[in-house]
Amino acid sequence: MSPYRRIIDSLKQIFHRPPTAPHSQTALDVSEHRPHQPVIIPREQHSISRRHISSNAVRVLYRLKDAGYQAFLVGGGVRDLLLNKIPKDFDIATDAHPEDVKNLFRNCRLIGRRFRLAHVHFGNEIIEVATFRAHHGKPDEDEEDKARIGSGVIENGRIIRDNVFGTLEEDAWRRDFTVNALYYNIADFSVVDYTGGMPDIQARVLRLIGDPIQRYQEDPVRMLRAVRFAAKLDFTLEPYTQEPLHSMGSLLADIPPSRLYEETLKLFLTGHGVKSFAGLRQYGLFQHLFGETHAHLADDKVAQRILKVLRNTDERVAEGKSVTPGFLFAALLWTPVQQHAQRLEKEGFTAQEALFEASHQVGKRQARQVAIPRHMALSMREIWHLQLRLERNKRGKRAQQLLHHPRFRAAYDFLQLRAQTNPAHQALAEWWEKLQTLNAQELQQLTATKKTSRSSSSRKKGQDTKSSDEDTELFDKDNFVGDGFDDED
Ligand code: ATP
Ligand code: MG
Repeated sequence: MSPYRRIIDSLKQIFHRPPTAPHSQTALDVSEHRPHQPVIIPREQHSISRRHISSNAVRVLYRLKDAGYQAFLVGGGVRDLLLNKIPKDFDIATDAHPEDVKNLFRNCRLIGRRFRLAHVHFGNEIIEVATFRAHHGKPDEDEEDKARIGSGVIENGRIIRDNVFGTLEEDAWRRDFTVNALYYNIADFSVVDYTGGMPDIQARVLRLIGDPIQRYQEDPVRMLRAVRFAAKLDFTLEPYTQEPLHSMGSLLADIPPSRLYEETLKLFLTGHGVKSFAGLRQYGLFQHLFGETHAHLADDKVAQRILKVLRNTDERVAEGKSVTPGFLFAALLWTPVQQHAQRLEKEGFTAQEALFEASHQVGKRQARQVAIPRHMALSMREIWHLQLRLERNKRGKRAQQLLHHPRFRAAYDFLQLRAQTNPAHQALAEWWEKLQTLNAQELQQLTATKKTSRSSSSRKKGQDTKSSDEDTELFDKDNFVGDGFDDED
């Protein structure tokens, strides 16, 4: 290390040192005094067994080893197995180059633009095989690539690749957290630990490798990963890893919205959404993902509604049920949409026109932070637009048609959610709940009722004079629900 760099680093330590550092070995110390000899934890001293690793991953590990390469399970797979959790997927690191990997497996595809990764396909399961890679101080391009796959990005007409292959040791130091840098060696079933990940697993501590400020600058998504892993694993953030989160969130503005979309799904839709939300708010990061929603969080009703939907989502994930991002995004953005619509109504738009326009504008603005894929924009807007229909079309054929609308269930669940945090919608939610329990004759009778009471949130007196027939016509027009919010929208 150059003397200049040493001075800069010691200044950084003085200025960025948090008040207390309970752990004697801080993240900064780790980067200063990198041990070159790893700690090797032999098979009998750890809990990872091949029985708990996907048989396809084991097959890939052995095929690489038998061909004379080094082969390790790495990342979340090792971490989760050591914590007695079921890993989401199994990633492999090797000294074989991507082309070598491709030659070993018929079912292999190379992906990635700058850094090539091998994907070995086994039906629905993909085992990702990455060549050891050195730390080159740039953002994790392969991570960005993954978010871009399918969009066919080519720079200046050329596909640019700057493969920076490295050693096992270099590969360990370029990873994000110590607990994500443990390697299970298929050659002798030991775990290789360069960065102190094993003691951190035992202490349930999440510690960024190297200088946290520099590592967050290189790739600001690591801040979201810090919050996500702390939530998912129920780990404590080590003070040096935690401290910069409070002040570095604005760097997320440089991350492509498509990558932030992927991260948002992992934060909120994988079973620990309530904790992720709390973490994002604690460190001031939520505003860099959902700025307009954040502006309304001081209103307890808004925060409660978001917490409710996240709690339901966590419960569904725990029960193995499916979850949809459209519903979550609809809940997150509902208040900004309503506020915008109210402004438009004051300018003379009908309630319906205002809602359509507000849905579009808010969606468009939101997509500058976190992308909203087309199909999701569609379901989100249908849920919102159906709220107005649920408020208005309580009689006649329209009510019965609504019951059979493909997105009735989502819209009704959304109405329930609104009712849970705002008693003004209670009666309406109960009406639609009752309607679903009736037989054909009872339904006929109830929906034939001449007059129906309106929920307080429906249009103001005299402001909107359109009949419900007109409402339906407008709602069914494709152009109101057809376009999504891409990055460039
Ligand atoms: P999970 O799959 O459970 O979300 P994971 O740790 O496997 O967790 P992945 O996103 O699958 O996370 O990444 C695999 C590994 O790649 C990580 O464990 C880490 O070692 C490394 N990695 C991923 N993203 C980054 C990043 N932004 N910076 C540095 N290393 C990263
Ligand atoms: Mg993983």
